[in-house]
Amino acid sequence: MIYKRSSALFAEAEKVIPGGVNSPVRAFKGVGGTPIFVKEAKGAYLYDEDGNRLVDYINSWGPMILGHAFEPVVKAVVEKAKKGTSFGMPTEIETQIAELAVSMVPNIDKIRLVNSGTEACMSAVRLARGYTGKDKIIKFAGCYHGHSDSFLIQAGSGLSTFGVPNSPGVTKGTAQDTLLARYNDLDNVRALIEANKNEIACIIIEPVAGNMGCIPPVEGFLQGLRDLCDAHNILLVFDEVMTGFRLAKGGAQELFNINADIVCFGKVIGGGLPVGAFAARNEIMNYLAPLGPVYQAGTLSGNPLAMAAGLAMLTELNADAEVFKRLEEKTAYLHVGIAKVLNENNILHTINRTGSMISVHFDGATVIDFDTAAKGNNETFKTFFHGMLNAGVYIAPSAFETWFITDALSYEDLDFTIAAVNTVAKTL
Ligand SMILES: *Cc1c(COP(=O)(O)O)cnc(C)c1O
Repeated sequence: MIYKRSSALFAEAEKVIPGGVNSPVRAFKGVGGTPIFVKEAKGAYLYDEDGNRLVDYINSWGPMILGHAFEPVVKAVVEKAKKGTSFGMPTEIETQIAELAVSMVPNIDKIRLVNSGTEACMSAVRLARGYTGKDKIIKFAGCYHGHSDSFLIQAGSGLSTFGVPNSPGVTKGTAQDTLLARYNDLDNVRALIEANKNEIACIIIEPVAGNMGCIPPVEGFLQGLRDLCDAHNILLVFDEVMTGFRLAKGGAQELFNINADIVCFGKVIGGGLPVGAFAARNEIMNYLAPLGPVYQAGTLSGNPLAMAAGLAMLTELNADAEVFKRLEEKTAYLHVGIAKVLNENNILHTINRTGSMISVHFDGATVIDFDTAAKGNNETFKTFFHGMLNAGVYIAPSAFETWFITDALSYEDLDFTIAAVNTVAKTL
């Protein structure tokens, strides 16, 4: 494939945008080479600036669950735009999307709409702190909750009781309120709670981790967290920015039948426009301004274009009783197909999957937390990534990302992808 125009555009972009990208995951730092510039997309396909067609497994990192330029979403946005793009005043459509979300998701009475997943998680934690009157939070190594200060924390060597910032600019003061636990390790969480008695406001978790590859919770892990939270007056925050409206209508809460106290959304809820949200039962949500003391605000929150896109997307997902089953079946088909050709080519691998989230790790061991995810062979991944790209399949340019399956993918597209894996496997 030729990437001439993409390379030229990237060189131009680098002069005026740090690293040439507006979000670091778009750069090819992890795999080498220069990012592909997209011209347009439709259904399961991206068309880049050099005229290449790529089968897309990123789908804007999740939102395009029904494919690119999905007609009902495009139509809703175009119609809405003609009537004004922002007012900073209440509009009916905000209530419509809120009512629909509340009807689809278990255990929530009210929802506040914001502009990104980062904002949703940041605000959820503030609300948890305000509601419980406690300062500390527990997060899990390898889970991503956006780029606000409290979340940019990782353990140094092994797990430390107090977090160490992994970005300059995050203060020690902020870092010391974030405690870091190992994903899928209940004993580790229990020990942190014991060591910080009556200080922990919330545990925030991706109920299926999707930012270190796809890592499902082991049997009993989420229920164990629920029980610990109940026993210690700690709020359980499910960051469903990735899993919400993807794993089921009601997200991971529905799939695993576990209630969280606060739930965060993003990605799918915006249908491809910038939307985030957080939701909870009345007694918690009523703590928010202007009803309660915890402040949270946004000039463009509930923006009419974003609401139109999100409402059209949720309406479609709500009306299509089979969509999540179809997505699961397609992903399972891909899983079986890829495993088969990697085995035939004697490539050491592990494939993790929940619903329409799937990741391929080039290591034979089970991948259950950040440490085991980090063991994957990055050199093999780089070769795999560029091989797939050349074969016309776009996966995330990092060994630590989940592939997102869209309903726009046909079985022919899946077979095309499996055949590409077979070809590339011979070069690994
Ligand atoms: C993408 C993501 C976020 C951040 O959302 P942005 O819209 O990028 O700010 C937060 N949490 C999870 C689980 C995510 O996948």
